[in-house]
Amino acid sequence: MIERVLDWRNRRAWLNALPRYASQVLTPPIRQHIETTRPECWSDDFRWLPNQEEVLPAFSEKLWSYYTHAKAFHGCRPESLATYFEEGLRGQEPDRILQTFRRLYADVPTSALNKAIRLMGERRGDERGSIWLSTDDHQMIRDHGHYIISGSEYLLALAANIHVEDTWEDDYRLRLRDVGIPTILEVDIPVDLIPARERLAGARVILSHWGQRRARRLLGSSSSPGYRLSCNLPPSSIKAHYHPGRVKDFHTPFGLYINKQLKCDMCA
Ligand SMILES: [Zn+2]
Repeated sequence: MIERVLDWRNRRAWLNALPRYASQVLTPPIRQHIETTRPECWSDDFRWLPNQEEVLPAFSEKLWSYYTHAKAFHGCRPESLATYFEEGLRGQEPDRILQTFRRLYADVPTSALNKAIRLMGERRGDERGSIWLSTDDHQMIRDHGHYIISGSEYLLALAANIHVEDTWEDDYRLRLRDVGIPTILEVDIPVDLIPARERLAGARVILSHWGQRRARRLLGSSSSPGYRLSCNLPPSSIKAHYHPGRVKDFHTPFGLYINKQLKCDMCA
């Protein structure tokens, strides 16, 4: 089977590929209508698209039948990368995270840890089993690099909830910056594993960019979509990884996180 990977970073490639799968849906009358009326082709308001109730889902169907995979990036700070290559990328497992939490903060009074866990409460229940991925690694480094700097957001939130009287350590979150190695995993997600809502969101972005060009009315570039999956990804879906040297840091006054660990045991 031919593999076709949708890489959001390469806009020219996905715009050029569109006529190969969507000509039957984006019919000559639709194209003509957009070219003549020149509407503003937003991705969150599809009134510009004739018969949008039918055309949008039909386009999404064609799009995701054409591509076999979507490229995405997962930011993390693992203690070892070996498990990724053995087990793949696993959805959020609160029990594992709590184990790690108790291990990393073993010196903190148990009552303070229990309280931090209680404060998290059931708030995070619906995130169990989820994986978050970005479609643009550079955007991730620029806009939401905290996964790379501190690892799991769940762990970070737990650490933020630790309060201990009379301690020299005033921000327990910073400790997470000394554990593991800042990493970006490059993953090709099999299309079957992408939930319907995420597929539709992707279709909206592509269709909007196509419309803007047809209408000759560019609205500025919107940020690329992300994926939230509710499943594990097999080891075969992990295509590469690297350790970024600089990550934008919103947590400290310096504003830039410098990572000196640019190689790990699993680096090619
Ligand atoms: Zn490595």
